[in-house]
Amino acid sequence: MAKPGKCEHAFKIIKSDTTLILWNCNMCHSGPHWYIYECARCKLKTCKPCSEKARA
Ligand SMILES: [Zn+2]
Ligand SMILES: [Zn+2]
Repeated sequence: MAKPGKCEHAFKIIKSDTTLILWNCNMCHSGPHWYIYECARCKLKTCKPCSEKARA
């Protein structure tokens, strides 16, 4: 598995279909969110602004 920080993130959006499953952003700790962007490679979970920042 790639190390976070060296990963060329490939985010895909995950949406919760239950209020029991919510996520906090791994980068800015915002949340909880009912949807999250998860990197398919390193499993980093971020909010939308952070996913864009992490990719830049
Ligand atoms: Zn990644
Ligand atoms: Zn964030």
